[in-house]
Amino acid sequence: MAKKTNPTAKLCLIVGFCGILAIPQPSAGSRLQSWSGTARIRFPKPNQSPVVDNLNSEQRRRNMASVTAKDTKPELVVRKLVHRLGYRYRLHVADLPGKPDLVFKRLRLVIFVNGCFWHQHRGCRKSKLPTMNRSFWTEKLFRNKQRDKQNKRRLTSLGWTYLVIWECETRRIDRLTEKLSRFLTEQEQHAEETNRH
Ligand SMILES: [Zn+2]
Repeated sequence: MAKKTNPTAKLCLIVGFCGILAIPQPSAGSRLQSWSGTARIRFPKPNQSPVVDNLNSEQRRRNMASVTAKDTKPELVVRKLVHRLGYRYRLHVADLPGKPDLVFKRLRLVIFVNGCFWHQHRGCRKSKLPTMNRSFWTEKLFRNKQRDKQNKRRLTSLGWTYLVIWECETRRIDRLTEKLSRFLTEQEQHAEETNRH
């Protein structure tokens, strides 16, 4: 025999279900409107601690882009200048330590184009830590810095020379062109001498 469902119970069930749907669920990056300024809380994945920072959305977008994306604007500036100087290179060579941005195989030279915040450019105003959740950032950026050091050491031990171009340097095109030109010419001469011996 089929069970009879009480119509009131059925209604309660539907109302209850809609109620659940109507409750706003926290999502990654949801903005807390009641907060002043642009502080934002990110709800963490399991095993992560919550991250609260006080970067505005533009700063955060730029920062995230600089750490995760290839072909960032500073990188494109460097590539263009190097190309104009007559040098050819490979990009993001994965089998070299640190996956360098530009690789000049013949010269055994690599160039890293580093974001000032993520790689903590010493003394640069762009490397300033957010005031909120300072210990989280200090630890995270310290690890980045350590990894950079390790990669540079490994490159040197493999006989590669490296040059770091900082994001903030890509704003002064004349100065940057001069730096790149000087460095590449030196490497060229060094490679010629090495081949002669
Ligand atoms: Zn800088």
